[in-house]
Amino acid sequence: MTRAVIMPAKKSKKPVQSSAKSGEVSSHLDERRKRIDQIDQQLLKLLNQRQEVAREIGQIKGRQNIRVVDTRRETEVFRKLLDLNKGRLLSRKSLYDIFAAIISASREIQAPPTQESSGHDAPALFAVLGNPVSHSLSPIMHNNAFSAVGFNGLYIPLEVDDIQLAISGLRLLNFKGASITIPHKTSVIDLLDELDDAAARIRAVNTVVNSDGRLIGHNTDWSGAMRALSDKIKINSKEVAIVGAGGAARAIGFGVKAEGGRIIILNRSKLKGEQLSSELDAGFLPLSEAKKLDCDILINTTPIGMTPHADDMCLPITALDKNMVVMDIIYTPLKTRLLREAEKIGCTCIDGLSMFVYQGAEQFTLWTGRKAPVDIMRLTVSTAL
Ligand code: NAP
Repeated sequence: MTRAVIMPAKKSKKPVQSSAKSGEVSSHLDERRKRIDQIDQQLLKLLNQRQEVAREIGQIKGRQNIRVVDTRRETEVFRKLLDLNKGRLLSRKSLYDIFAAIISASREIQAPPTQESSGHDAPALFAVLGNPVSHSLSPIMHNNAFSAVGFNGLYIPLEVDDIQLAISGLRLLNFKGASITIPHKTSVIDLLDELDDAAARIRAVNTVVNSDGRLIGHNTDWSGAMRALSDKIKINSKEVAIVGAGGAARAIGFGVKAEGGRIIILNRSKLKGEQLSSELDAGFLPLSEAKKLDCDILINTTPIGMTPHADDMCLPITALDKNMVVMDIIYTPLKTRLLREAEKIGCTCIDGLSMFVYQGAEQFTLWTGRKAPVDIMRLTVSTAL
């Protein structure tokens, strides 16, 4: 008797409870899914309205013979949206990705793809060769720049240990160009057919252009750095202190010298520092002795202060003076400790993003023959950072 009463009660209790719970869960889910569907419908309606307006803008511009794709205006739109976005759940990156897709759809309606970028032809291929490259921002920067100007190109990261094999691969697959990064900037030289003047003098290549099967090496690090500096100061006849004596210091030193600046190299290793300073006809000071500096421009080219060591600084604070222009070529973090301290005392500061974007812009022009959409490139990288 007892068994007969207890058993059915136990058996039936659990399934009833769990099915009630799962029923409740599924009704909560259904309710939210319905809301998502409604929101999607509203978004679809709004997106179609936006496309309609974009089409009208394209028609007006077409009638007036005004260039349809306006990357400056697109950058402004992104900037405004990033400022306006107060939603805690929509990250800068997601917002950027979503609106990049929306803007790209608008472009399609405003300026239907030309034959060059119809999407049916194989894209021109580009790559960054280095190790490591998984965190490189060059692919996102160049791919966005290609799409901004309607160039049918594709840029991919390739982790490369054997640069000789990689360069043979580029030739075989008819890549149109490549970025070369650590550790191959010097070793790639002997594998190329020609070097431009600057790359030959700096003895480092960060850009390869495939010109009808001939691979030509260029260096845009120096010109990128000079453009970043020139935004803030005229270099001619200025005293420039460069911290570091590696590849970046060599490229920047070459540029500063070409622009008529006077250089002093500050480096940890005396031998390397003295070697570079004699090549550049510059002064030299061991980094450990730099307590106070007498210069107009100070440039850090060492990795000191890079994430995860963001509190490190290549020089003591006493070396800074409020009249200096201080540039750090590190861009992770964007504001290094050196720049934070320099900003505090009133120096003019230049972050590593400027050089990175400008060196990329010069590469873009070498590869495509077109003016680079610098604003889009800068926004892409700063958003990704
Ligand atoms: P590199 O050839 O290896 O040279 C590094 C230099 O930094 C050397 O002079 C080295 O001094 C010095 N150094 C390294 N660690 C140091 C430490 N703990 N204390 C003191 N000195 C130190 O490298 P690179 O190609 O010149 O690149 C340097 C940095 O610039 C990297 O962080 C790279 O990411 C960055 N970079 C940025 C851009 C851009 O577009 N923003 C472009 C190129 C490079 P010793 O001679 O004593 O070893």
